[in-house]
Amino acid sequence: MESQQDKLRRHFAGRVTTQARVVLEAWQQLKQQNWADAHWISELQHATDKLGRYAARFDMHDHLKLAQSVNSVLKKVALHASEPVKEQSQSLDDLFDQLAQLTGRKDDHASQEEIGSDQRTYLKAPIYICLNSQPDSYKVLKQLEFFGFRGERYSRLADLEAAILNRRPEVLVMDVDFGGRPKQGIALTKLLQARIEAPVPTIFIADRTGSIELRLEASRAGGEEFIEGSGNTSRILEKIEQYTRHHNQDDPYRVLVVDDSKAQAAFMESSLKKAGMPVRTVTNPMDALEAFQEFEPEIVIMDMYMPGCSGTELARVLRQDDRFMSIPIIYLSAEEDINKQLDAMSVGGDDFLVKPINPKHLVATIHNRGRRARTLNALMVRDSLTRLYNHTHILSLLERAVSSSRNQDQPLTIAMLDIDKFKSINDTYGHPAGDRVLKTLSLFMQQRLRKSDAIGRYGGEEFMVVLNNTSMSDAIRVMNDVRESFSELSHPMEDQEIHVTFSCGLASLETDDTVQILAKRADVHLYEAKHRGRNRVIPEKGLKETP
Ligand code: GH3
Ligand code: MG
Ligand code: MG
Repeated sequence: MESQQDKLRRHFAGRVTTQARVVLEAWQQLKQQNWADAHWISELQHATDKLGRYAARFDMHDHLKLAQSVNSVLKKVALHASEPVKEQSQSLDDLFDQLAQLTGRKDDHASQEEIGSDQRTYLKAPIYICLNSQPDSYKVLKQLEFFGFRGERYSRLADLEAAILNRRPEVLVMDVDFGGRPKQGIALTKLLQARIEAPVPTIFIADRTGSIELRLEASRAGGEEFIEGSGNTSRILEKIEQYTRHHNQDDPYRVLVVDDSKAQAAFMESSLKKAGMPVRTVTNPMDALEAFQEFEPEIVIMDMYMPGCSGTELARVLRQDDRFMSIPIIYLSAEEDINKQLDAMSVGGDDFLVKPINPKHLVATIHNRGRRARTLNALMVRDSLTRLYNHTHILSLLERAVSSSRNQDQPLTIAMLDIDKFKSINDTYGHPAGDRVLKTLSLFMQQRLRKSDAIGRYGGEEFMVVLNNTSMSDAIRVMNDVRESFSELSHPMEDQEIHVTFSCGLASLETDDTVQILAKRADVHLYEAKHRGRNRVIPEKGLKETP
């Protein structure tokens, strides 16, 4: 029982960690500006308060203690409303160092990949919201927060200008008439874009129908998107999510190095690790297949000549497995003979590097190959509307999850979800509106569930979630949490807002289960959830349902 609670706690720890990052970021801002901006002092206070509340709620004592200490020092500083005295400043430095250390430690199934992407979250820039309508601004801000983004609202030209020059936002959401005068927002954006290094992706919002001329002007000012109506929050959010997701492609690539020379392998491992990539090395080619299955690399670097078998032979064997068919292989060799290189490429290898290797060149090659492989891979395994895993892929992930949960003797629970009365949303507001709901739920689940959970679009408005290493009772709580918070989300439709719910059936892996039987059981429970009035999670029989 205790351990299940621990697991759940770990699951929620993510929220505390995210908030800790917001605090750290406010602290950096404040220091950068030498305490000149009182706005950041109150921002920092506000963020620390929130951190304290979250930490208390999720029983994270270390975070709670730090938040309390920071707050008490900040109160003293604010009392004098000026730069802190040396002693206070030192103690703040110490406290934030501790917080940074605490936060760098990953609580949720730490793996190198996750730590890497975490650092990026911390560095993630805010999204600037510049809408004339105050209520709409707050609606967007609230939605953003709901999905784990950080928005900042600007209503004055000068503030926005200062903010943009000080810190490049991830995305800019700009009223075409920002400030009140027609097309002022476009003009301002054009000026600002010219003053910063790389253009900021900008979403223009107009409260009128955009003529071709207006849209052209917006696009010339760096507008990537033109949305009519600042109340169209889900569309705004969807676009923001697209732009920010693009950055996730910077997630480090998992690289497998196969080289019989220990020295060469170690050299590559250290070069790649320095570039932030998780690396596994194999010095005996006969271990390669096992490493493939276990580590699931995205890219392989392979020595051309090894005892026992050549790189090309090994590649041929590895590619016989469907899963590894499209993995890029980069061959390494002292060989400068162009014919041999061509031979290697024709086997399916994608690149050829000549020893001695320049680490910079190596890293650049991996980035190029990796990016392309991910794009192709995403097309194959993801659904184009929701970008969740498609039907085929979620089933193959489930198959893998079943075997690994048996091998490691861990619990496995799956959830089948189906949106309630979805047809009536389509019928009332149109098919595109229904699509928006599907996207929102997908995005919502991706933000709410752990990285280790696999989410797939099973059918039209039906989803499957594979909750790895999760017992039934944990799954009940997690899915009910998702269900409840999703039902609180409002979806703007025409001139009103609606709420949408889903029903969910759960099933946990049992000794004799096949993948089909497991999925079938979850489906039966989903059907039962519908039957019993929808908007509920139904676990295995014998366990109490929580409506
Ligand atoms: P219940 O609560 O019993 O699940 O009712 P429901 O209306 O959600 O269920 P039903 O199966 O009758 O309707 C599902 C609808 O989902 C019918 C179909 O047109 C719609 N649908 C399926 N795929 C998509 C899609 O990609 N986009 C949109 N907008 N609608 C879709
Ligand atoms: Mg339905
Ligand atoms: Mg259905």
